[in-house]
Amino acid sequence: MLNRKVIMAIADGLGDRPHPLLGGKTPLEYARTPNLDRIASEGINGMMDLIAPGIPVGTDMGHLILFGYQPHHYPGRGPIEALGIGMNVKPGDIIFRCNFATVNENGIVVDRRAGRIREKTDELAQAISGLEVEGGVEIEFMPATEHRAVLILRGPGLSDKVSDSDPKAPNDGKPYHKVEPLDSSEEARRTANILNLVLETAHSILSSHPVNAERIANGKLPANFILTRGAGQMVDIVPVAQKLKINVSCIAGESTVLGVAKLAGYKTFTDSSMTGNIDTDIELKARLAIEEIADNDFVYVHMKAPDVKGHDNEPHEKVRSIELFDHMVGLICQQLPENVYIALAADHSTPCEVGEHTGEPVPIAIAGPSIRRDRILQYNEIDCAEGGLGNISGSDFVRTLHGLLGFVKKQGN
Ligand SMILES: [Zn+2]
Repeated sequence: MLNRKVIMAIADGLGDRPHPLLGGKTPLEYARTPNLDRIASEGINGMMDLIAPGIPVGTDMGHLILFGYQPHHYPGRGPIEALGIGMNVKPGDIIFRCNFATVNENGIVVDRRAGRIREKTDELAQAISGLEVEGGVEIEFMPATEHRAVLILRGPGLSDKVSDSDPKAPNDGKPYHKVEPLDSSEEARRTANILNLVLETAHSILSSHPVNAERIANGKLPANFILTRGAGQMVDIVPVAQKLKINVSCIAGESTVLGVAKLAGYKTFTDSSMTGNIDTDIELKARLAIEEIADNDFVYVHMKAPDVKGHDNEPHEKVRSIELFDHMVGLICQQLPENVYIALAADHSTPCEVGEHTGEPVPIAIAGPSIRRDRILQYNEIDCAEGGLGNISGSDFVRTLHGLLGFVKKQGN
């Protein structure tokens, strides 16, 4: 038995389109990426549709697939986010992904991200968590990365079939949405009523909170509202690690990615220096990846910044974030043991000109021991399209890697 292993480096939202500010190149083509290109030239390349051509996926679904699940295992973003930030999640909980947001006195959303608030969200959250609402329903509320947070409704007679209060990007300047039931059940109607009440109460508490008074005094937008989306009910699901008898570690700063990893039964590593943005600690991530591969079959190491820059429509900043990703991968490759494959992937495309996820495929590459090579020399959306892996699904890519490790059963005799 060959003792082979994989480190997969994931650049969130990496895929893009040719951009006029980059001379008609994609940010990945434009960026200087000697380490990614060396992997491409020494290995095998291709393009990957996470589910199927043209279908955009969220970071949660993208990672669910990269971590070895099928799309139908998706439990909803709320439960993933709650797991990611270490909340005590119970089966039956109705869980929402939230943003701290700024609304004016007419309920108009001035900023869906409350000026991308990063400080003192824990103090704001504490003022809301533990609220008591009608019918024995308990509220748990916890901050996540930057302006994000998670809300849990726990109690009898609740449903996840309710709409979002978040008007979604790019709808700053529109009113927030009243939560509506999405089916005719009594549970959905009741949940929508309770959630609307919770959001009103939270608005009133946050509006008079000292943290927001301080923000306004400093010329910052107050985080005076909670926008909810992605309702999901926590389910029982067999972890991938248990099913495949595989030991896996995941290193990431983003709670969504950590949540999917926990769902999959993977060990997770994070640190406050892994910021989910361009100032993340790539030396620490690279060092942890090398340390973790010693005792595991598979290590995932994630970088969020390319996605953030795609959402913000900043092509030159996206280039910079990709060069940082290249540097992190270079640090890993410097110390890569001979029996370890390095795989490159992304969870979806986030083209700058769109500012949202799109269904275009992302480039993939694998280099390492006895890998079949193709003739591709550069890692990008254009060159990898001619690579030896062809255009495959996310599940095909993961199976290919599991196959290299000997985790895929032979069919027939
Ligand atoms: Zn993503």
